[in-house]
Amino acid sequence: MKIIHCYLKKNRDKSVANRHPWVFSGAIHKIVDEDGAGAGAEVRVLTYEGKFLARGFYSPDSQIRCRLLRWQDKPIDRAFLGKKIRQAVALRADFMRQGDTAWRVINSEGDGLPGLVVDRYADVLVVQIMTAGMEQRKEMICEILENELSPAVIYEKSDGIIRSEEGLAAHAAALKGELPREGVEISENGLRYMVDIAGGQKTGFYLDQRDNRALIAGLARGKRVLNCFSYSGGFTLSALKGGAERVISVDSSRSALKLAQRNCELNGFTCAEDDFVVTDVFQYLRDVESSFDLIILDPPALAKHKRDVESAARAYKDVNLHALKLLQGGGLLLSCSCSRHVSPDLFQKILFSAASDAGKTVRILAERAHAPDHPIDIYHPESRYLHAFLLQVVES
Ligand code: SAH
Repeated sequence: MKIIHCYLKKNRDKSVANRHPWVFSGAIHKIVDEDGAGAGAEVRVLTYEGKFLARGFYSPDSQIRCRLLRWQDKPIDRAFLGKKIRQAVALRADFMRQGDTAWRVINSEGDGLPGLVVDRYADVLVVQIMTAGMEQRKEMICEILENELSPAVIYEKSDGIIRSEEGLAAHAAALKGELPREGVEISENGLRYMVDIAGGQKTGFYLDQRDNRALIAGLARGKRVLNCFSYSGGFTLSALKGGAERVISVDSSRSALKLAQRNCELNGFTCAEDDFVVTDVFQYLRDVESSFDLIILDPPALAKHKRDVESAARAYKDVNLHALKLLQGGGLLLSCSCSRHVSPDLFQKILFSAASDAGKTVRILAERAHAPDHPIDIYHPESRYLHAFLLQVVES
């Protein structure tokens, strides 16, 4: 087998020795690729002196030059990948709620498989390949998934920033079977949702918010709810199930709101046409005159890159400020950030500043993150991206 050797600079081996799964170009002393193995090949990462540290896949076009999977000097072959995938599948079997039919099966670094995401929607698997290493092993991975999970359909939906930084073009196609034209129906927290895999956002649904949707279901009884950035109605349906008096859903995507409306009907909830508002949330929060008891803010990642953090902080502050202004004593705000460059600490500071400018007394009732089917490798805190705070406005 062709293999690449990557020698690190002196004193730059600590993070790999600590099982961090990335090697940045700046830490590399030299790459030795005698057989011309190239992008996606297996790489042995060594200290400056040549002592073995870890094995992974090589990405010559990315700043993250190596993504590591194995800290033993043994091959990353079918048996190893099969073991990792089986571990990931078994983990979900331990905690997924009975009746739920959608969850993340493989969460990239969080499952020891950098560059690979697999989501399950009923009997459809959606595979997202983000690195050259995984791209080369796509067929093998699909065979393993087929053996382990026997899906009716495997659909590849590979896109996103990581992939483009690898120099790989976006790619979407069925690898096994065909996606049903009408969408795929899933069940989550006792609710039915239609998922638009090919046309929708991400792999079709924001699975990471599952437990936060359940939280909202438990809080919504009798409340007037505003669900901002609602997408296909995840939090909307949860609030309705929890007995909300009325839920207004706001999103800039008409097709997302159409699906939200369809999902409401699918569950037998009666909603008015004007409960779904196609508009910009930033503007809506300034203009709306109704009052609410519970507001959900789940914007898209406002800081996609490190350089965006400052402008994202301003935008997060803006929406939170205007949402807090709409709440009276006892009112609740579930405020989320899914920007990996915004830390929980920074997000809390932004919320502090929004509360202060709104002139409100605000308490943190809970701090939340992704559902556990999105595990985080303890050595790779970068994969922790979803932070949510449940806030309460207190009458002063
Ligand atoms: N809470 C949802 C996921 C939200 S994803 C769930 O649980 O499924 C973010 C959503 O914000 C997307 O649907 C996107 O269309 C919408 N969006 C992005 N920018 C927006 C803006 N400025 N105003 C309104 N909606 C916006």
